[in-house]
Amino acid sequence: METNKKDKSEQLEQVGTIIKALSGFYYVRADDALRFPSEIQCRARGVFKKKGLTPLVGDRVRFSMTDNGEGTVTELFPRSSELVRPPVANIDLAILVFSVTEPSLNLQLLDKFLVHIEHADIPAVLCLSKKDLEQDGDESEEAKAMSAAVNEIYGAIGYEVYSTSAKHNNGIGELRERLRGHLAVFAGQSGVGKSSLLNTIVPGLQLETNAISNRLGRGKHTTRHVELIDIGGGLVADTPGFSQLDFVELGVDDLSSCFVEMRELSPNCKFRGCTHIHEPGCAVLEALEEGRLAPSRHEHYKLFLEEMKEKKRRY
Ligand code: GDP
Ligand code: ZN
Repeated sequence: METNKKDKSEQLEQVGTIIKALSGFYYVRADDALRFPSEIQCRARGVFKKKGLTPLVGDRVRFSMTDNGEGTVTELFPRSSELVRPPVANIDLAILVFSVTEPSLNLQLLDKFLVHIEHADIPAVLCLSKKDLEQDGDESEEAKAMSAAVNEIYGAIGYEVYSTSAKHNNGIGELRERLRGHLAVFAGQSGVGKSSLLNTIVPGLQLETNAISNRLGRGKHTTRHVELIDIGGGLVADTPGFSQLDFVELGVDDLSSCFVEMRELSPNCKFRGCTHIHEPGCAVLEALEEGRLAPSRHEHYKLFLEEMKEKKRRY
């Protein structure tokens, strides 16, 4: 009899993902989509609060159904990652979007985003957006040169580089395929076309586009809650990640490990704790000298280091 009873209660327990959190409710998408085709409105067990746990969008949870068709989140599974902005758990892929122009491609900003993504320990891929402007735009020559540089520099150190045009529906299928099975976040400065990309990837999705609302100080993403978009085989956070790019939480020693190629080279430096700026026997400087390290990458490393020291002085 005991076993029977247990079996029954286990059947009622389901596993799913929180895709939205609003006014004390958690909306859970069950793994068993056949039995639960639509999201389930759940309350969280009071015990979480007592333990100081707050369920997050992206959390994998166990839940049980109550009599009124609602559910109760009964267990939170351990998180593989936790992002503060946007507050999403378990993100396992960041799509770093940079437009080839409009706004013009800034490698320093790109490296800054990469440092933050590497620091969060989330795998990153690059996406060059608005590729059509390499043909049509006023800045087409510059755009072409920048996108070639990105492919060369970042391809060489192991980042995948995707090219897309939301306008002409180019490269969208490849990106959609890359997102499959992941919980992803799109990152990048405003106006590079993140919302347009998502709208093209997910037919029927109608995220508000155009950065003008940002310029008026009414950021289109600031007042909204986070929600995960089902892109058919994957989930994407509907607000951009890594929007706050300052180095307060990052230690000076962490910085070089956020540059993947420097992280690989540094064990060969002569001195432990080498800053890769002036030390003799520095494997990073040697690679720079021999053209195995992109000058812009080392330049930005030095800039960020200065910026961090400056911040530390002020805080
Ligand atoms: P977000 O702020 O990163 O979400 O960028 P949006 O998606 O709002 O796009 C900003 C502006 O870029 C809008 O005016 C879009 O129409 C334009 N845009 C987006 N994607 C493309 C593209 O592939 N090609 C061109 N030419 N313009 C685009
Ligand atoms: Zn060194």
